[in-house]
Amino acid sequence: MPRIKRLSTHEAQKIAAGQVVDRPANIVKELVENSIDADANQITISIEDGGKKLIRVVDNGCGMDKEDAQLCFEKHATSKITTVDELPTLTSFGFRGEALASIAAVSNVTLITKQEQGDEGIKVVHNKELAIEPIGCPQGTDIQVHNLFYNVPARAKFLKKRETETRHIIQFVQAISLAYPAISFKLLVDGKVVFNCPAQEELTQRVAQLWDQATAQHMIPIDGMRQDKGVSICGVISNHHWFRYDRSSLFFLVNNRWVTNHHLSRALMKGYDNVIPAGRYPMACISILINPSHIDINTHPRKEEIKFSNPRVVEQLINQTVRQALEAHLSKQIKKEVKLFDSQQPTATPFRAASFTSFEQEPKLQFSMPEPFVQKQTAAVPASYQPTSPSIPTTPQTPIVQPPEKILPILEQQEYTLIGQYHKTYMLIEQDKGLFLVDQHAAHERVLYELFAKRFNDLPTINLMFPQLINLSKEDIALIEPFANLIQQHGISLEVMSEEQIIINSTPVHLKDVPLDTLIKELIGWLKEYNDIDQEQLTKKIHDHLRAQMACKTAVKAGDQLTHTQMEQLLKDLYECPNRFSCPHGRPTGWLMPLDEIEKKFRRDYKK
Ligand code: ADP
Ligand code: MG
Repeated sequence: MPRIKRLSTHEAQKIAAGQVVDRPANIVKELVENSIDADANQITISIEDGGKKLIRVVDNGCGMDKEDAQLCFEKHATSKITTVDELPTLTSFGFRGEALASIAAVSNVTLITKQEQGDEGIKVVHNKELAIEPIGCPQGTDIQVHNLFYNVPARAKFLKKRETETRHIIQFVQAISLAYPAISFKLLVDGKVVFNCPAQEELTQRVAQLWDQATAQHMIPIDGMRQDKGVSICGVISNHHWFRYDRSSLFFLVNNRWVTNHHLSRALMKGYDNVIPAGRYPMACISILINPSHIDINTHPRKEEIKFSNPRVVEQLINQTVRQALEAHLSKQIKKEVKLFDSQQPTATPFRAASFTSFEQEPKLQFSMPEPFVQKQTAAVPASYQPTSPSIPTTPQTPIVQPPEKILPILEQQEYTLIGQYHKTYMLIEQDKGLFLVDQHAAHERVLYELFAKRFNDLPTINLMFPQLINLSKEDIALIEPFANLIQQHGISLEVMSEEQIIINSTPVHLKDVPLDTLIKELIGWLKEYNDIDQEQLTKKIHDHLRAQMACKTAVKAGDQLTHTQMEQLLKDLYECPNRFSCPHGRPTGWLMPLDEIEKKFRRDYKK
């Protein structure tokens, strides 16, 4: 008895469609690319509910006549090529004639279109059957995609939540509008305008529209070429003062197509080596023009990934161009400052700007004899080490980092003598088995982390006398707003004030002196990196992340002088913590220098 059945064309089409369009952002991409292929210079994109309810793209391109308006929904129906031989010289985005057929197979599509010379437009409703009627409309095409995957529940289930899908769409619209500054783009998300970018001549002007004026002022144009290798790059990158907490503002275009390729990002980041702090990312749009025979764009069905036949050439070009542009920018800055300084104080000694060379100017340290056995308690005692309640539970838990052998003694033995503080960073402790060093910041981080976990939802908070306003992009606000309640559980009350501002009214007492904008921006950056994981895991991770960041920001720092009493208390608190061997980021809190090793160093072991 045969088991094989031929799927009906309708069912097969639904399955095939999923390979072309698997999420709303792909549909937006296909439709916008069709508009560009149709020579539109005005494109408006509207989405509702992350594109699940509606995706609408309206353009002023060439439009279609009645026949094409029906034919375009058929598989392999394309106006862009007639034979495969045309492929090598093809300049349009599309050519497979698959997108509209696939989209129509998994949603309800309405198409309204009119050509320049046509008297009237045509409306086609693709709802299993085609319904066609004449309609009055301007030249161009208006495609509305309703109820995505209504007939393929298995796929609908895999769609991420509204914010995630919206973020992917916003990311694409940013990329395509950076690639085509001469096209006017508008994006509406749930009825609100997110981007409105009239046509521009220059990429820098587009950046100003898209990212804001302040960002544009911090952008540096770049330009580089390897003529012998048939590749050139141009674009804009942010200067060393302007960075973000995630990679979402790095865009690469290869022959005008947006691509993702982590080797390119890495090459860009290498250009910034030592210029921006770790964990921060620049904003950049780099357009790479390369001989098409040196790339393979078919590694990905949607051409989002790319393979270079000689990737090192491109990477080196990016790295060097970025580095040179940053250096040139910096030296220009220095010259400007020198000029300013000279004009203000013509007789002053030559000015050396604080830049990479600033350490040369630092006054030499004065050495004085240490005063042994005298506790200096006069200098800045940080207010931040407030001993926590000693009642932190001692329930044993698996440490994040298994205690290495050398750390064990503080476990075995509660007896110790605190010698003092070394390098304003480490507490030196004498134990039977050796000299134990505890990192004051890591230790305090752990203590606070456990305290925040224990007092979750119940941290003492204060209303800020001057509530803090934080400027964010609309996109960032859309991302963080759904988590306001969750953040509130950590004692931070956050409210959206306007489309681009949030306000923090109260914080946990511990956080009152902490720069809240950094904390929030770090959280947003972090959310972007992890937003795709499942909801339950995400919630848990956000709690952990917030606790760890709050602990890190509140804990005593390296360089803070601690009194003997404060150190004793910190050690006592640490001793009572679960996971006391590592800080919440996984760094060890302590390290033992065993006595026998010390004796070996002094050759005392030979005496024995
Ligand atoms: P492809 O882009 O690969 O040709 P699509 O399924 O995306 O395939 O589109 C099919 C055809 O419909 C296109 O070749 C084009 O002729 C027509 N078309 C689609 N969108 C538009 C538009 N916005 N304006 C004018 N024509 C369009
Ligand atoms: Mg197409």
